[in-house]
Amino acid sequence: MFVPKNVTTEARDAKALHRVSIVVDLHADTLMSIAAGERTLSVRSAAGHIDVPRLRAGGVACQVFAAYVSPELPPDRMYARATALLDAFDADAATRDGALAKCVTVAQIRAAAASGRVAAVFSIENADAIEDSVDRIDALYDRGVRIMSLTWNGSNRLADGVGGDRHGGLSAFGRTAVRHMASRGIVLDVSHLTERSFWDLVRATDGPIVATHSNAAALEPHPRNLTDEQLKAIAARGGVVGLNFYPLFLGVPTVASIAAHARHMATIMGASHIALGSDFDGIGRTPEGLEDVSHMPRVTEALVAAGFTAPEVRGILGENALRVFAETWGD
Ligand SMILES: [Zn+2]
Repeated sequence: MFVPKNVTTEARDAKALHRVSIVVDLHADTLMSIAAGERTLSVRSAAGHIDVPRLRAGGVACQVFAAYVSPELPPDRMYARATALLDAFDADAATRDGALAKCVTVAQIRAAAASGRVAAVFSIENADAIEDSVDRIDALYDRGVRIMSLTWNGSNRLADGVGGDRHGGLSAFGRTAVRHMASRGIVLDVSHLTERSFWDLVRATDGPIVATHSNAAALEPHPRNLTDEQLKAIAARGGVVGLNFYPLFLGVPTVASIAAHARHMATIMGASHIALGSDFDGIGRTPEGLEDVSHMPRVTEALVAAGFTAPEVRGILGENALRVFAETWGD
C-alpha cells in the first residue's frame, strides 16, 4: 500500500533544500529582450521570465545567458550579433552595480553565490556566430563565453540541427570547430543537433558533452528531445542534460512532468547526469505554476515528491552542472 508522506512537511523540506542548494540554470534566452531595450535585467518586469529580482526570488544562484544567433541573419552579420548581445549584458545596470557577476570559473560562481550576487555565465546558441573562422571561438572565449551549441534548428556552416540535412551530420569545418572549442575548455552543447550530428560530435571529441535544454524522447518523442542511447552516451562522457520546461518538449504542461522526465533520465543515466535548462524567455508557454523563474522552488518540490533524495536533488539543481563546468573549464 502506498502511504503518502505528510505533504506539508515535504513542501517545507523542499523549500529548505532549495534554499541551501546552489541552483544553476543552463539555458535562458533573456539577452535578446535586453538587447532590444524591451526591459532590463535589474528591474523586476511583468514581461518575460527572467531578471535579477526574479532570479533572487526563485533562489537561482547561477544563470547561463545564451547569446542566440538567428539563422535568418545574413551569414556575415552573425558574429556582430553575438557580440552585440554580450555588449547588452555588459551595459545593463545589474552588471554595472554588481548584482550580476560574470563568471568563468566555478570558484567565481560559488563566491558570487556566497556574497548574494547572481552568477552569470555566457553561452552561444548557434555557433554559426563564428562565421567561417575558428579565431572567433577565441574572441568569444575572451569575451567570457564558456558554453557553445553548434546549431539552432536547421543546418549551418558547422552541422545539421533538427530539421536540417545539408551535411549528414557535422561538416569538416564543424569538426575542426568542436575540437578547437574542446581544446579551449568550452562546454560542448548538443541541444538542437540532429541525431547524426550528435553522434559525429561524440566521435570527434572525448571530454564531457552537455545538452543544456532537452528532455527525454522516451516520454515525449519530439526531435528536440534525446533518445535513451543519446542519454547513455552523455552519461558515459560525464556530461549532464538540462531539463527543459517547454510544455511541447515535456508532453504534459505541469511541473510534475519535469520530475517525470528527471525520473526517466535517472533510470537511464543516473541522477548525477541531470541538470536544469529552463529555456525561460525562449518559450511562449510554461508549465502551470511555473510562470517565471521566481517559481523555481516548485521544481524542487516536484523532484522531492518524485522520490529523489536530498543529495540527488542538490545535484540536479546545480552541483552536477558545476562538476561539468569544473572539469571542462579548469581553474
Ligand atoms: Zn534552444
